[in-house]
Amino acid sequence: GITNGLGRLKGATLTIKKSDIERIKREGSKKKSFGGGKKVGFLANDDPAAKQYAEHTASSCEDIGLDFKLIQVDKDALKSNIIKANSDKNINGIMVYYPVFGNHIDYTLRNSVDHLKDIEGLAHNAVNSIYHDPSKKKILPCTPLAIIKILEYIGQYKNSLVHGDRLKGCTVTIINRSEIAGRPLAALLAKEGAIVYSVDKYNVQKFTKNDILDTDLEYTQVVPKSDIVITGVPDVNYKLPSNLLKPGVIAINFSTYANFESDVTSTASYFVPSVGKVTVAMLKRNLLKLYDYQNNQN
Ligand code: NAD
Repeated sequence: GITNGLGRLKGATLTIKKSDIERIKREGSKKKSFGGGKKVGFLANDDPAAKQYAEHTASSCEDIGLDFKLIQVDKDALKSNIIKANSDKNINGIMVYYPVFGNHIDYTLRNSVDHLKDIEGLAHNAVNSIYHDPSKKKILPCTPLAIIKILEYIGQYKNSLVHGDRLKGCTVTIINRSEIAGRPLAALLAKEGAIVYSVDKYNVQKFTKNDILDTDLEYTQVVPKSDIVITGVPDVNYKLPSNLLKPGVIAINFSTYANFESDVTSTASYFVPSVGKVTVAMLKRNLLKLYDYQNNQN
């Protein structure tokens, strides 16, 4: 079975450590209800997966005493609602389920969230500092952060080493280069010393600690040499052929759809079929951090 969003290890079950869940719960209850504050989620698309994710977020917040309110609004009313929530003292955090318009308007929406309430770490300044000034980074985007936590749990991301070396010697392929997931993830993993091939519909880019380069490579050339392959293709028909994978690969899918073939577990040492639940845990972590920043400002 699959538990807590972490996946199977050749048939065995991997779960988030109970102690970690307990810790998140403890931190949550310490700041119970944030002094009457709310975390608000705006849903302005019809995607059933987004709705399910939103509902899961709500129930898992409730479990630890966080006050999460899901508000379904019309796309065109979203911006004014965000602006209202920005100045509402009872709201400590804001999240929006993307894509809303699926174009540049989403970028504007991400930037309209007050940076002290940006739970997802998706505003331009938050994402940009990953590329330019990671030391100042306080809130990291939740999906990349969830994937790093999973790699840490598996032991591939080595917390005992200094920053910059934690993925040294690793080759990674990420099939998705969106601004909210694949691109910041590529930058974060490269900053820890990995060589990261970032694949999208159009080309393959190579991310290293200090560079992002366009290449003439095909995904079929980079997947076979990758120790970690991460997929996020929003297409029900997309399947990455298992015969391209290096034996023992760590395979992680964050797309709503199953991007790996069903026999991936016969090649992979670890297979993580979805990261949604870990992402929700990271949303809570970011919310607790924002709560501290907001209080330190007062
Ligand atoms: P998006 O549409 O913004 O980006 C999709 C990316 O995949 C683009 O870079 C595109 O070029 C690339 N792509 C599409 N088809 C491809 C192909 N055939 N080959 C190579 N690359 C291809 O989508 P997104 O917002 O990044 O979301 C992607 C998926 O991940 C969705 O299913 C979404 O629901 C899911 N998602 C899950 C989480 C989570 O669980 N935490 C978070 C974010 C997104």
